This record gives sequence, structure tokens and C-alpha cells, in this order.
Amino acid sequence: MKKNVEERFRKGLLKYGKKNKLHRCLVLPILVIGTFFSHVFCFVRGNGKRFAMLAMTFLLFVVYSSFSFPIFLSEERDGEAADLDEAVSLAQESEPDLSEFLEEDGSLSFSEYGDDVHSAGGSITYGAEEILQSAKQAGPSDGDPGQDGDLGAVFTRDDWRLILVNKQHSIPEDYEFPLGTITGYLQCDARIVDDLVAMIQAAKKDHVNLEIRSPYRTRERQEGNFNDRISYYMNRGLSYMEAYQRTSRVITIPDNSEHQIGLALDILGDGYKNLDEGFADTDAGRWLAANSYKYGFILRYPEGKEYYTGIAYEPWHFRYVGVDAATVITERGITLEEFWEDM
Ligand SMILES: [Zn+2]
Repeated sequence: MKKNVEERFRKGLLKYGKKNKLHRCLVLPILVIGTFFSHVFCFVRGNGKRFAMLAMTFLLFVVYSSFSFPIFLSEERDGEAADLDEAVSLAQESEPDLSEFLEEDGSLSFSEYGDDVHSAGGSITYGAEEILQSAKQAGPSDGDPGQDGDLGAVFTRDDWRLILVNKQHSIPEDYEFPLGTITGYLQCDARIVDDLVAMIQAAKKDHVNLEIRSPYRTRERQEGNFNDRISYYMNRGLSYMEAYQRTSRVITIPDNSEHQIGLALDILGDGYKNLDEGFADTDAGRWLAANSYKYGFILRYPEGKEYYTGIAYEPWHFRYVGVDAATVITERGITLEEFWEDM
């Protein structure tokens, strides 16, 4: 009986297709879909086991998709989560109440050094004057004009200057480095201090005052930033998993941040206050992009290289790799990840 219904349906459709030339292209897909469902119906009709199997497959598919595509979940939240998404991508602009404490990638810095220092107002920024003053007291600095890198130098992956830290490469558990203090809480790997001071001095000669925002960061600090952001999202109604997911998009997971090994610095200049893309268009941003390699620093997350770095463009985040490697990387316009591949 079922077969008859299907046969009649098919004949009717074909007849309709012959009469209405314009609708002919619709007839074929309807025919295919109709036949498919009719066969499925015949397959399970009167057979409980088959029906149960099909239903389970469908159920599993639905459950699986809801886990792998969290966007389905977000949409159910009548726009609230969607707003949050926007807040993440526009971190600095969209969260004015937190802007004072925002650091690179929108990380929160109010837990940085304890309340005594921080309650005064957001992140500490160290100006060129202060840094050079401290450096002068610490020892003579001749204002190194920058060095020429050796393009033929041989590089090895176990060179401390070339350590790769990113989402795929955590900091090795036994990693150690000499922590040096430049002034106040401004700390970084002691071995890069001379080049850093030389760079700040050279910039000053070109009438650019560089400012260091975020130097060495302890694991606890990075973890604090991370957890603060998770709580922030959870307070807005997200589950822990959702909050974690959103947080890891904007803040580096503890143990995967270059700031923890004292080789990365966030550098601004000339009163520019925000860690955002606009910094690239300032005198300081341009000076750094053009000259930092002479002092061993590379722009770590260049524009258009997100595929390799996994991090959006950050014109303020500089990483020390040594003058030779910085020269090669800058000349070739590549990232540390690509440089590593070739090593
Ligand atoms: Zn940074």
C-alpha cells in the first residue's frame, strides 16, 4: 500500500514537472527527498528495533553537536551571551568599568602587585626617564647605537634567547633564568637589561619616550589574571566551562605566557595609554617597529600572522631573541614560530 502511495506521488510530481516548465528544477530535489523519507519510513515501520536505533543515532548527533558548537548554546541566551562575545573581541572599548585595569589582550591587572601599589590607579607604567636614571645608577651605559645582526649566524633551539612559548609550547617545568630588576617592580631576565636600556636611550635620542607597561609576570600573577577573568564571566551568568573558553581566548593560559620567562615586554610611549592597535600609528609605535630588532627585540605578534602565532596583532608586545635572530626575523618578515620551523 505504501508503495502505491509513493508511486502515485512520483507520477504526480513528474506530471506537474512536465506541465510547469519553470518549476521543473524544484521537482527533482523534492522527488529525491520524498523518496528518501519514504524509504526511511518503510525501513522502520513496524520494526521497533530499527526505530530505536535510528532514534538513538539522531539523539547522539544532537547531543554531540550541542557540545562541539557552543554557539548553539549562546543563541539560546536571548542575546546576553552574544553581547558578551562582542565585549571580548572589543575588550578595551566595551568594558569601560574595567578599562583602568586592562592589560594586553584585555587581561586584568588589579591583582598584580598587591593593593598598596595598585589601588592608586591601574597598571604601573615606567617612563624612559625613570628607567634611564636607574640604569645610570646601576652602572655605566654607553648608549649603544644598536648592533648589526649577523645574517649568517647559526641558531639552535636550545639557545635561551630563542625559547618558543605559545599555546602549543608551555614553559618547561625546570626553566630557570636570572631575574633582574631595572627599577621598582620593573623586572625581566637580567641578560636583556643592557639591550633594553640601550634601546630606550636610542629612542630618546630620536625624541621618542618609550614606556614599559608589563614586564616580567609571575605564574601566580598570570594565574590570578586568568581566574579573575573567569569569575568576571561567571558573575555574568556563564557556566565555568563557558567562562573558561572565553577567558582563554583573551588571556594567555598560565605557563604559556612569554611574560613569565622575563623575555617579553609591553612597550608604549609618549603618553599613549591603551594596549590597542592604535599604538602602531604613534611615533613610538613606528619607531619600535623600525628599530627594535637592532637591540634584539621583535614585534612578536605581527598583523596578518595570527595563523602562526595564534594571537591577534599586538603592536606593543616585544620579545627579546637577541640581535642576530631579531635581524633575520625582521628582514624576512616572519614570526618566531616560522623561524623555529626552519631551525
Ligand atoms: Zn605582552
